[in-house]
Amino acid sequence: MGSVVQNDKNGSLDGARTPARSGAPVRRHRSRARVAIALLAVTAVASGCAQGTGGAAHPAPGQQAPPAEALDSYAARLRAEQAARVAAAKRWHLARVPLAAPAPPAVKPEITARDGFEVEGQEEENLPPVFTTVPTRQKVVFLTIDDGEEKDPDFLRMMSELRIPYTAFLSDYLIKKDYGYFKKMQQRGVVLNNHTLHHPYLPGLSYAQQKHEICAMQDVIEKQYGKRPELFRPPYGNYNQDTLRAAKSCGVKYAPIWDEEVYVDHWEYREWDRDLHPGDIVLTHFRGRKDWKGTMPDMVRRFLDQVTAKGYAVARLEDYL
Ligand SMILES: [Zn+2]
Repeated sequence: MGSVVQNDKNGSLDGARTPARSGAPVRRHRSRARVAIALLAVTAVASGCAQGTGGAAHPAPGQQAPPAEALDSYAARLRAEQAARVAAAKRWHLARVPLAAPAPPAVKPEITARDGFEVEGQEEENLPPVFTTVPTRQKVVFLTIDDGEEKDPDFLRMMSELRIPYTAFLSDYLIKKDYGYFKKMQQRGVVLNNHTLHHPYLPGLSYAQQKHEICAMQDVIEKQYGKRPELFRPPYGNYNQDTLRAAKSCGVKYAPIWDEEVYVDHWEYREWDRDLHPGDIVLTHFRGRKDWKGTMPDMVRRFLDQVTAKGYAVARLEDYL
């Protein structure tokens, strides 16, 4: 049996109770520099746009310039998207206009289990890696939203209008009251992932019980939404070797947890520096006034205002996996 890796059972981040964290400096994954041609073009066009000069993009030495016509229509599309983003930011009372995410990496980063978060047999059995940050040098973070209790139509509208990507981790006992709400989410481009049937403390269960919680949820999502998830998040961030073996047995490839958690009224951080880092995964929950002093849009506002103020864009997690 692998060691039990625990976060606070309430799902909150408590650095002191996170394994192998106390005192030791955190070794973060470093990625090789990967700069795609597309990214250079986007950066050049977007900055030209912002200055109102409509300046041409300059390809890096040795790279082919895209045809002028294609670049023009691309620039026009970026301008239209930016105008829509500015209007939406105003409508939803954001302090700042969210930054547009850079083009996804042409070569996907290699995802491995975070140091101290591996289980026995992690590499030998090629078990799904548990990680909190995607190795990238781009100033992006990923928003992940868990459970499924609150089903706020304003939230769907806000995220579509702002064009903010996110990933959902759903628990069946909460979503089965209204599978349709999450169908709408999926139709808006959100990937629906596995967060077990009943949200149990998995290390307290046998392998067979864990397998049922995880694999029967794969079946529910496939039946309701037509696609079997590749991402699974253990409730409370708690797991052991059986968890990852069970998840792998029914098609799970990754087990992302999180580096920060955002609530409607505060943030919590896993790292000592209490800051965002490139590639960080941010957790929040589908919760409303019943649990929080505010709504989903209030929480998104807090999340986006801080992310934008620190110079980060929100990117789509699946684009990096
Ligand atoms: Zn949860």
